[in-house]
Amino acid sequence: MAQQLANGGTHGRTMPAIFLAHGSPLLLDDRGWVSELAGWAKALPRPRAVLMLSAHWVDRPITLGATRSVPLVYDFYGFPARYYQTTYPAPPAPELGTRLRGLLHGQPVAEDPERGLDHGAYVPLVCMYPDADVPVLQVSLPTLEPAELFQLGRALAPLRQEGILIVGSGFLTHNLRTIDFNPNATPPAWATEFDAWTADVLARRDVDALLAYRERAPGVRQALPTHEHFVPVVVALGAAIDDAAAAPSFPISGFTYGSATRRSVQFG
Ligand code: ZN
Repeated sequence: MAQQLANGGTHGRTMPAIFLAHGSPLLLDDRGWVSELAGWAKALPRPRAVLMLSAHWVDRPITLGATRSVPLVYDFYGFPARYYQTTYPAPPAPELGTRLRGLLHGQPVAEDPERGLDHGAYVPLVCMYPDADVPVLQVSLPTLEPAELFQLGRALAPLRQEGILIVGSGFLTHNLRTIDFNPNATPPAWATEFDAWTADVLARRDVDALLAYRERAPGVRQALPTHEHFVPVVVALGAAIDDAAAAPSFPISGFTYGSATRRSVQFG
């Protein structure tokens, strides 16, 4: 108990660990999606802070983003000017960085104190916590290797008892060559098959299958020409796997931009 108090105290309820589809900056114009994310946040216990791992920051070793107020990272190109005017002045969470170092038991941890939240991090947070009143620490994905990220999730799991919402942010399918902005676009079969396979694996918390998704999942080559958007879900499962009570649910699903699944997962 003394250790927990030294680390900021325990929380009334164990926080879920989540993975969310983060859309693009255009998500902020999608009223339906915005309200789904807002409703999800309202249904969650109020977090003491958010630990964010986004597809848009892969850097080894694991690196702590800014622990003081810095500007957002507008890591997208060719959008109208207003998308570069979003602000999100969430309080920084330096003590969470200290706690994370402790949980990683001497593994190397780097710092990038000038690095603000990227769009994979701030776009969903604008929808979920629009008052920017929940402290946020973004850390890099240290690798794209599923087994390593699963162990990272396990190492971070104690944060759930301390009121920290662990968020993996990406897209379970992410193929920019197949993006279709027609709102009535039908998702291709490879996308629906990959989405269904992943949903089944997550619903059963089947670690072996999830870690082998590159070999086993139908449609994986089309769904994921690159892997950075998928693997944040592995961190979320890792953070939940040792907690039998952390049952999976899918607060948001369906497709957008033709082939991109909006499927988002909550464990616990
Ligand atoms: Zn993205």
